[in-house]
Amino acid sequence: MRAQARIDLQHIASNIQHLKSMSGTPVMAVVKADAYGHGLVPVAQAALDAGASSLGVALLEEAITLREAGISAPILAWLVPPGSDFKVAVDNQIELAASSIIALEEIGAVKSELRPRVHLEVDTGMTRGGFLDEWGRIDTHHISNLDVVGIFSHFARADEPSEKQNELQRNRFKEMIATLESFGYTKIVRHISNSAATLKDQDSRFDMVRVGISMYGLSPDVKTLGDSAALGLKPVMQLRAKLHLVKTVPANLPVGYGAMAHTSKETKLGVVAMGYADGIPRVAQGAGVFVAGRRAPIIGRVSMDQFVVDLGIDSQANSGDWVIVFGDGAKGEYTADDWGRASGSINYEIVTRIGPRVPRIYAPHE
Ligand SMILES: *Cc1c(COP(=O)(O)O)cnc(C)c1O
Repeated sequence: MRAQARIDLQHIASNIQHLKSMSGTPVMAVVKADAYGHGLVPVAQAALDAGASSLGVALLEEAITLREAGISAPILAWLVPPGSDFKVAVDNQIELAASSIIALEEIGAVKSELRPRVHLEVDTGMTRGGFLDEWGRIDTHHISNLDVVGIFSHFARADEPSEKQNELQRNRFKEMIATLESFGYTKIVRHISNSAATLKDQDSRFDMVRVGISMYGLSPDVKTLGDSAALGLKPVMQLRAKLHLVKTVPANLPVGYGAMAHTSKETKLGVVAMGYADGIPRVAQGAGVFVAGRRAPIIGRVSMDQFVVDLGIDSQANSGDWVIVFGDGAKGEYTADDWGRASGSINYEIVTRIGPRVPRIYAPHE
């Protein structure tokens, strides 16, 4: 094997337990996008075993895959556009988010033994999904054929806890809840917190929190909230690849496509058997790998299947050794945050884009 993503499900358990005890509310484990690249079914099962009460996904297909794997916990799917097979959702007891009248009408029109269960998604300031202009126009006949079981919203700036927008969104959410309650819906699940709000905003927990990135042991934003260790989280994914080749080279050699870098002195270079086809960003500069007890930075541009690192002339690394591309910053390894920063992106994008060519191995990190 030349590359693998080691997924430590014990760390999922530890992160879920930590988030649950700190929030004091039921936890929805967000497992969309193949559990942020960690593997949908194993992660969902581990999160439920560790005390998560329900699962959150974007797509109906993701929810169906969970049901086909035998998972019977509540599942909410929030990106199921008009024209989707809502009957399959209802028949499989998948709860649906609705953010428009047409969605309510389509879901309400499903013919099933079961009544559709819907969470109303409301726009409190993210200005993406959620009821906004149509909110005042929902009529009883739009919801008479379904059960409204929840109301939820999403923060745009929860990773910046001191921003006024968070308070504005929370207040707007409370107003929208009050409107719904005035129609007699007093027992619905109210939820707005993502990971950042769960970690930093005690006033926004309501009846449930939806945790994604923090369950995977990563910080929503290292700069504003601190790193994994500071937040009491354990990174779940350790990405490893083999050194295809180690060789000694002189100073002033151009390295890689476009000769974007040159060796500054005689050194050992390592060719890492992983590239942008595996999800390593082509533009990444400033990250690298951890091998033989130290960090070795990228040199030159990332290729499709490989990239080159500067090991240093006295490195003990050999061809065929495993390197850690990212893992636990507390052990000196580069992190998904480092790779995010190195490519003008965020850790979320790094882990979700690790490609299908990289097998996920469910085992402790090495
Ligand atoms: C992805 C997502 C989450 C999880 O966000 P994190 O920042 O990863 O915790 C929560 N709610 C909704 C609606 C989402 O789309």
